[in-house]
Amino acid sequence: MIALTLAEIAAIVGGQQHDIPDPGLIADGPVVIDSRDVRPGSLFAAFAGERVDGHDYAERAVAAGAVAVLADRPVGVPAIVVDDVVAALGVLARAVVDRLGTTVVALTGSAGKTSTKDLIAQLLERLGPTVWTPGSLNNEIGLPVTALRADAGTHTLVLEMGARGIGHIHYLTEITPPRVGLVLNVGTAHVGEFGGREQIAVAKGELVEALPPADAGGVAVLNADDPLVRAMSSRTKARIVLFGESADADVRAENVRLTAAGQPSFTLHTPTGCGDVTMRLYGEHHVSNALAAAAVAHELGMPAHEIASALSAAGQLSRWRMEVTERADGVTIVNDAYNANPESMKAALRALAAMGEAATAKGGRTWAVLGRMAELGEESLAEHDAVGRLAVRLNVSKLVAVGDKEAAWLRMGAYNEGSWGEESVHVSDAQAAVDLLRSELRPGDVVLVKASRSVGLEWVAQQLLTGE
Ligand code: ATP
Ligand code: MG
Repeated sequence: MIALTLAEIAAIVGGQQHDIPDPGLIADGPVVIDSRDVRPGSLFAAFAGERVDGHDYAERAVAAGAVAVLADRPVGVPAIVVDDVVAALGVLARAVVDRLGTTVVALTGSAGKTSTKDLIAQLLERLGPTVWTPGSLNNEIGLPVTALRADAGTHTLVLEMGARGIGHIHYLTEITPPRVGLVLNVGTAHVGEFGGREQIAVAKGELVEALPPADAGGVAVLNADDPLVRAMSSRTKARIVLFGESADADVRAENVRLTAAGQPSFTLHTPTGCGDVTMRLYGEHHVSNALAAAAVAHELGMPAHEIASALSAAGQLSRWRMEVTERADGVTIVNDAYNANPESMKAALRALAAMGEAATAKGGRTWAVLGRMAELGEESLAEHDAVGRLAVRLNVSKLVAVGDKEAAWLRMGAYNEGSWGEESVHVSDAQAAVDLLRSELRPGDVVLVKASRSVGLEWVAQQLLTGE
């Protein structure tokens, strides 16, 4: 964090100083929420979580070098006491971002936020020092903590914004007002909680409503291929930049194909030129993510040929997203177990099928080891059925559906599409899946592992990689 005295911090957040020997003490280390992350000069923000209460770690944090604790009650060590620590963190981040004047790029969408944020960060790093959301820390705590890492040298803050309801994105935009706002897509993630795709669009669109008008530099980067996102252009006064495969998109891809390894390759067109891209990431859904990132980089002044070369060089920053590892025995594991929704399941299956073309030439087979897609509400049965069917239509050699009810629906979809017997199996849990795969896998096989976060299927991928 930029250097602030405890007195300044207390004034910004409207807090009371307790047990502070000297209000002139300076906090200039990272703001942290876990006492194990404390560095000298840190401010430790204490929250009462579901299982642990950060206030119990206040003493430990100070012993480790924290200058003070941001807390909702006196804790016996130097503290700035406020009514609501989460709100105070937001207020502090807003004050710091305003003081620095850093350009904020914010993005939201149903699928691909983290992948795209990581791509944007890798492009913008070429223009100057960039701070971005680590992993998926995209909520009312992770967002201010990330923003507080910016300092006077930071050119751009790239922030992922997540929403689980109406008003969430609006709140996040108040903490870090974006100049560039990107909406990737409106899918069915969390549709059960929102109560419909239109409601999701209302929530995601809060991002473009928060942008400054065009003459003040506001830019809304919208997916031309997603009607609910395109329609958001009427909700903002910012300049509209469209990306996608639609002919009228400002930033678009032509000659899109997947290489034999499953990596997208295309010609990038921006208003200032074009360039050829072959990505290191896997799966055709990354074309859309890459175009989104390209549109942002273009708006911030990067020429097309440089965007193309940066996209071709960009690698994986966050874990368990289409992580491809070949074992010594020639079995390839594709770990996409970070999360799943209908769109990403289908995209991952298509990537698996593309990899399968090369694999089958070597005598290998493709395996889709899939678990539940959570939070789909009434659409759950139909969506699981559709994924099972798609696996068959793409000629995936083996479907292993892992878990209870939803896994049975996946298997049923495959069955109804014409796969029965050994081509699709339903196993009760991850251990059973590992046992089955250990006995069946042979050199040349490619195994996709994917399910919603709560299923924890990365364990299967890890077992297959470590316990050969
Ligand atoms: P979360 O809401 O969990 O933070 P996210 O929006 O950050 O998710 P990612 O973590 O980038 O999304 O990707 C989640 C899953 O969606 C991964 O399985 C990934 O392969 C897939 N995915 C990534 N981009 C897209 C896209 N444009 N369309 C569909 N699926 C995608
Ligand atoms: Mg994410």
